[in-house]
Amino acid sequence: MVSTASFTTTKSEEIFAAAKKLMPGGVSSPVRAFNSVGGQPIVFDHVQGAYIWDVDDNKYIDYVGTWGPAICGHAHPEVIGALHYALDKGTSFGAPSLQENILAEMVIEAVPSIEMVRFVNSGTEACMSVLRLMRAFTGRDKIIKFEGCYHGHADMFLVKAGSGVATLGLPDSPGVPKATTSYTLTAPYNDLEAVKALFAENPGEIAGIIIEPVVGNSGFVTPDAGFLEGLRELTQENGALLVFDEVMTGFRLAYGGAQEKFGITPDLTTLGKVIGGGLPVGAYGGRKDIMEKVAPAGPMYQAGTLSGNPLAMTAGIKTLELLQKPGTYEYLNQITQQLSEGLLKLAQETGHTACGGYIGAMFGLFFTAGPVHNYEDAKKSDLAKFSSFHRGMLERGIYLAPSQFEAGFTSLAHTQDDIDRTLSAAKEVFSSL
Ligand SMILES: *Cc1c(COP(=O)(O)O)cnc(C)c1O
Repeated sequence: MVSTASFTTTKSEEIFAAAKKLMPGGVSSPVRAFNSVGGQPIVFDHVQGAYIWDVDDNKYIDYVGTWGPAICGHAHPEVIGALHYALDKGTSFGAPSLQENILAEMVIEAVPSIEMVRFVNSGTEACMSVLRLMRAFTGRDKIIKFEGCYHGHADMFLVKAGSGVATLGLPDSPGVPKATTSYTLTAPYNDLEAVKALFAENPGEIAGIIIEPVVGNSGFVTPDAGFLEGLRELTQENGALLVFDEVMTGFRLAYGGAQEKFGITPDLTTLGKVIGGGLPVGAYGGRKDIMEKVAPAGPMYQAGTLSGNPLAMTAGIKTLELLQKPGTYEYLNQITQQLSEGLLKLAQETGHTACGGYIGAMFGLFFTAGPVHNYEDAKKSDLAKFSSFHRGMLERGIYLAPSQFEAGFTSLAHTQDDIDRTLSAAKEVFSSL
């Protein structure tokens, strides 16, 4: 590897060493610890636009975007401005506010399946609530999820989950009672026959299917032609619900998410990340007759002290307003295509086996010949090579997700020059691997 002598991270190392004594693994969420790529994580000082500065004053072009929310770029001046104004009115109401109506209207207008919405505080909360709703509405207990799909860290979903669970190689987590996951059936992603078999083996017992319509939590994996359509048909035939977990893909693949992009309307949808504009938010929504089962309109209990928080609503509203400007998704698609195709071409020119793809502002690269249809395929990627690639890019000022099993994210703040600089760094790193 070509070493980059000027790259020092002394302060990051000191702070992270202290953090490890204070918090498990030194972090508030596992993948941040860099365990799967080796080396130390960098400790952030501040973020702006497409860039991060660490505590040693190194600057990086960022392709993590706080794991998805920063689609307009970090600390967008209009988002920050709106937040300053909202902050002066107070930080939490615990009561109805106009901001909730505004964001709800924007979400309902944008996302084809959503006629009514409930705000919560994270994607995890959105997914655990939607699961309760699937069961409450159908009166059935079993659900189908896909291997390598991540739906937050609630017990019922910690079966063959992707993201940090994939990164750490934990097939299941200790502390999750068998009884909790006994109703969670799993199938390989893109395997319609496996889903058909589950419906046949469990007649009248399956409440529904939850899926990442485009996977980001096993790395970037797209649905084969006909797969999502097949799930839509199977759920309808079996009186079950189809839920798209668009916590990552919502407002990222297209303004209306994967459901707009692929023209398939699920019954229910979960959202998070982008709709909070960098503050903690999640949401679930869908058909009105289903959503009216949620308390206090209906009997299914679900609540939250900070839900619909005015600061989070404000950041979400401003973020969606920025995304509504003409040309947004054309631009995101264009720079992401350039980055994704550029990386693949450079990898191949330097003799590496690789595959990858992109949609909208989301991309991925695997060190395997591919094609990658599911989590099993993703696991064939050369993880040692990914680690060296990740480290090499970090040393050259490019911040990629510290795991092969995460997708990459671009933003409106990424310029042509940022993409060019990223590709020239990649050329150097690929050549040295
Ligand atoms: C991030 C993510 C979640 C969990 O959201 P949190 O806000 O981290 O709890 C759920 N589903 C998908 C698809 C995600 O990408």
